Amino acid sequence: MSDTDYLKSLLKAHPDFPKKGIVFLDIFPILRDPVAFETLITHFVYHLTSKTIPSLPTKKVDVVVGLDARGFLLGPIIAMRLGAAFVPVRKKGKLPGECVTAAYEKEYGIDSFEMQADAIKPGQSVIVVDDLIATGGSAKAAGELVAKLGGKVHEYLFIIELTFLKAASKLDAPLYSIVQSD
Ligand code: 5GP
Repeated sequence: MSDTDYLKSLLKAHPDFPKKGIVFLDIFPILRDPVAFETLITHFVYHLTSKTIPSLPTKKVDVVVGLDARGFLLGPIIAMRLGAAFVPVRKKGKLPGECVTAAYEKEYGIDSFEMQADAIKPGQSVIVVDDLIATGGSAKAAGELVAKLGGKVHEYLFIIELTFLKAASKLDAPLYSIVQSD
């Protein structure tokens, strides 16, 4: 079985969560199984180190940015494997010190993401990671934060992409997902 089929088989769909009409795809069964979690992380690291991203011929990733909150479970492990820094993007008001801010649209209204202003140096190469991309609003805001600090996002990584929402067209760098769901 391929990594994709194996990991996909562990995802659990929860109808009507967090509210009626939404089918929530739960990634936590993957993290509960150490072999599956290892497969997931190795898949991401192999992807980043074996294939050349056109904008990053050196393959040298300086920073892995993880999105609040499930990106925090994946990003630090990928960063350590790559010998890169990990930087969190958090919901507004959670990070100490000077921060940069970017707004993004949620289902109802606007929310804001923040990143510590000294977290990324100008010219650094960055990968953004989260568990799932839906509309792409949160990933786009993360990309804006990286750009504000002078970094460059080379790829956006996700376990799951909801392809019918066409988020890739909103992003300033290629999107890679292991499982595509429509
Ligand atoms: P977007 O900003 O792309 O519309 O939404 C993506 C964000 O919503 C991610 O942070 C992701 O964790 C969360 N999200 C939305 N729907 C789901 C879902 O069905 N499963 C999981 N695991 N996360 C979801």
